[in-house]
Amino acid sequence: MEFNHPVGDYHVHPDFSIDAEGTLREYCQKAIELGLAEIVFTTHVDSNPASEDWHKIIIDGRKQPVTTDNLKIYQDAVTELISGNDPVPIAVRCGVELEYHPEVKDSFLKMVADLNFDFVLGAVHFVDGALLTIEEDVQRLLDKYSAVELIEEYCKIVQQACQIKIFDSLAHLDIYRRIGHKLFPEEAARIDYEFLDETLEQLVKCGLPIEVNTSGIRHGIGDWYPSKPLLHKARQANVLIGGLGSDAHAPDQLAVDFEMAHLIVHETFPKMHED
Ligand SMILES: [Zn+2]
Ligand SMILES: [Zn+2]
Repeated sequence: MEFNHPVGDYHVHPDFSIDAEGTLREYCQKAIELGLAEIVFTTHVDSNPASEDWHKIIIDGRKQPVTTDNLKIYQDAVTELISGNDPVPIAVRCGVELEYHPEVKDSFLKMVADLNFDFVLGAVHFVDGALLTIEEDVQRLLDKYSAVELIEEYCKIVQQACQIKIFDSLAHLDIYRRIGHKLFPEEAARIDYEFLDETLEQLVKCGLPIEVNTSGIRHGIGDWYPSKPLLHKARQANVLIGGLGSDAHAPDQLAVDFEMAHLIVHETFPKMHED
């Protein structure tokens, strides 16, 4: 890939995430091959008390609970990569994708905050304990909510997430499109909802940037998260953009579709790479 300015991937899941493959070093190797300037690891940290299996991190190939000690093992592995015996020749940051859930305990958020990660990507994946990324879960939600009500419920949780001070950026703003694209395409594509305006206002008010997440292309929905129309609307509303993320769950997904995305994001938000 050729970039005319430094480009980083700010949303990368190494094999510490329960649903990802690829070691830290394999990812760095791939990032160097692709010509990226920076790679930001964002291992999943799920805060939803209802999701037993997701409340885990992979340490030495085994599922372990998310605790300070286990998160430190992950941090140490990234530090080893940066300043160990065989440092990788690329900028690396150690972050997490921290699930926001309305019932998350302050003590849990404090535990993550106290670890001083380089980057904390906030994310909302659940409504009422159902995952917005799994079709059967979304079907279940549609027994209770209309499509528009479901999107509104999600947006309300995102608005709460904006209040969480430790987030550096918010992941995949319209993730409901992932399954909504198939189950309720018209409602999922609309951007004229009042609650969406309120969500953008809240992001601005809290100074929380959003990422441009290219994984929508990989998910077959034909656009990024947020969609280009919503990205445009967000820009007009003065929402900050926190960077580009591929949401890679394997090294060959790193920086997917960045050729187009970096041009548009860079032209639209020339300050996004300065921090
Ligand atoms: Zn996510
Ligand atoms: Zn992710």
